[in-house]
Amino acid sequence: MGNHTKVRRLRRAPRKWPCPTCGTFGTRFAFRHREAVDAELGRPAVLKVKVGLYKARCDCQRVFESFHSELPKGWRFSRRVRELAVRGVVRDKLSVEDVRQRLREDFFVEVSEGCVHEWLAEAGGKNQPGP
Ligand SMILES: [Zn+2]
Repeated sequence: MGNHTKVRRLRRAPRKWPCPTCGTFGTRFAFRHREAVDAELGRPAVLKVKVGLYKARCDCQRVFESFHSELPKGWRFSRRVRELAVRGVVRDKLSVEDVRQRLREDFFVEVSEGCVHEWLAEAGGKNQPGP
């Protein structure tokens, strides 16, 4: 299908960023581009985030990276995708399979069952049946 991919660009790369371990600010020396699958109704979408690389002034690690809250490090899907999935199950009471189908058909996003379960677990205790 001839749907044009929608690109959403964000940036989170201030001059200084705190070390994730101790909070000491490091100084940006380079940029890095992160990319993830995003959700846009009716067309495929990609999220591109420009982040910074920081030289540490502490001893925790030499270099660290900033991140945007829409795309913490290591995520392959944007927060928007995760929230759609979680909301579908928690608020709309859909099954995981139905949520996957909705993402696939309405947003052109393909997610595994394991992914959705992981996001549900991460979305927090209050929506989960007790331990
Ligand atoms: Zn540190």
